[in-house]
Amino acid sequence: MKPAPLDILAPTSVAHALSLLVEHGDQARLIAGGQSLMPILAMRLAAPAILIDLNGIGALRGIHAQADGSVIIGALSRHRDLERSDLVAERLPLIAAAMPWVAHVQIRNRGTIGGSLAHADPAAELPALCLALGATLELHSPRGARHVAAADFFQGVFATERADDEMITAVHLPAASPGQRWAFIELARRHGDFALCGIALTADCSPIGQVLGARIVVFGVSDCAQRLPQLEAAIVGTTPTPTSIDQAMPALDQVEARSDHHASSEYRLELLATLARRALRQAFGFDERIAP
Ligand SMILES: Cc1cc2nc3c(=O)[nH]c(=O)nc-3n(C[C@H](O)[C@H](O)[C@H](O)COP(=O)(O)OP(=O)(O)OC[C@H]3O[C@@H](n4cnc5c(N)ncnc54)[C@H](O)[C@@H]3O)c2cc1C
Repeated sequence: MKPAPLDILAPTSVAHALSLLVEHGDQARLIAGGQSLMPILAMRLAAPAILIDLNGIGALRGIHAQADGSVIIGALSRHRDLERSDLVAERLPLIAAAMPWVAHVQIRNRGTIGGSLAHADPAAELPALCLALGATLELHSPRGARHVAAADFFQGVFATERADDEMITAVHLPAASPGQRWAFIELARRHGDFALCGIALTADCSPIGQVLGARIVVFGVSDCAQRLPQLEAAIVGTTPTPTSIDQAMPALDQVEARSDHHASSEYRLELLATLARRALRQAFGFDERIAP
């Protein structure tokens, strides 16, 4: 099928895009990479009269190093930009390692970080990465700018804290602590498919390897990416060994998973236990990392 007839407007500034969003209200949708929205339009699950194309807004591009070690990523940065960036590889190795797992290279050439976060697919990698890295999203509307922690942004299946007149302009990623451990792992039916289950984690450690804090995030199993606080609590304070990682696994007993036509909840919970164990083993150097 093809989208219903529509007009495309091409603002060149954030202010212009926001004024168009207000002017056209629920008749309009923002479009960035189009990798989620275009299939929706083609299937006529949505039929906006107007698309506001963000691709001409230079201010939304770029990956910027900050003096304090943090990184600001413009909303229009493509998945492929993140995958290929030396700065991301150096300061955000978790993102660099995860991007090759996202879809296929053709989709990564177009899809953007802002689009992925706004779309909030429960099985998408970037929301989970933002949670694991303690990211903050920068949102702009005619009322001004605000910053929302990733932990408060994702609310459910395709549901976020973003108001209708807001757009994501950037993602702020704090500096990693020295020696921060990390891991990313997922399983999909075929390479490039959305994950049935995945884990993104970071752990801050003391110089002797004791875990001081951890963010362990699962995605693909429920309505949105979520931290696993019981597992985090079981790891914090330990100096992980293969045995202590195994002993932490009962902390996953409280997690609930959804069933759908891709996998049952029982299968997803089995996957979760396996992937969480592997992710922890990889983060603490007991297993090799796995590339897709
Ligand atoms: C076959 C296929 C496989 C895929 N597999 C994966 C996968 O494994 N993992 C994964 O994470 N993704 C996957 N995707 C989705 C892909 O990553 C998309 O690029 C991404 O989800 C949306 O980014 P986009 O820039 O294309 O957004 P668009 O499709 O342009 O927009 C998506 C939504 O976000 C809104 N939006 C866009 N930009 C902004 C902004 N700056 N502020 C506010 N709202 C905005 C739009 O209005 C729309 O509602 C797949 C897509 C396809 C077609």
